[in-house]
Amino acid sequence: MKVTIVYDNCPAGPGLKTGWGFSCLIEVKGEAPLLFDTGADGATLLHNMARLHIDPQGIGIIVLSHAHGDHTGGLAGILEKNGHAEIYVPASVMARLPGRRVTALGKPAPIMKDVFSTGELRGGEQSLVVRTDRGVLVITGCSHPGVGTILEVASGYGELYGIIGGLHGFSDFERLRCLSLICPCHCTQYKSRLKELFPEQYLACGAGLELEI
Ligand SMILES: [Zn+2]
Ligand SMILES: [Zn+2]
Repeated sequence: MKVTIVYDNCPAGPGLKTGWGFSCLIEVKGEAPLLFDTGADGATLLHNMARLHIDPQGIGIIVLSHAHGDHTGGLAGILEKNGHAEIYVPASVMARLPGRRVTALGKPAPIMKDVFSTGELRGGEQSLVVRTDRGVLVITGCSHPGVGTILEVASGYGELYGIIGGLHGFSDFERLRCLSLICPCHCTQYKSRLKELFPEQYLACGAGLELEI
């Protein structure tokens, strides 16, 4: 599978725009790509997609982690280009989009082959759990429910391999010791501390980062 960071506060590739927010594309063999979150604005999102040769019309599923504007602001922009993608939101988010299939998730649920949602956790946010050849990869928006809580739910899907996404103010660093990949993005406050503690596992996040697992 492949993860591409499409929207982030930091750059990781030439010609990519940055902004306060998060979005990434998840590609699993044999499935249409899934877009997780949409960043804060459609213009930046679509600019970066073009730059990364991602066709907005090819996206089959859009998952929103939570209702904050830095994750949902680009939705209108992508929906203008893509008339068919199914949308998954946390249960407490009321989203009525005419002509669209919108699924609100309260409990853990499968989304596509090898990809699951944790369901809405405390704080109104869902994360993704992806089964890979190396173990379970967790993809988070802001981690408002707490990284520990998210990892606990994800560990029900197999041995944990890594985490990618916003970790917010998470500081229970030892909780990550079991992971082989730590890629803190977006709102993560303690990036430099994580890099110091886990130099082998640490991967710098940024718009344009492409990761094959
Ligand atoms: Zn955020
Ligand atoms: Zn947030």
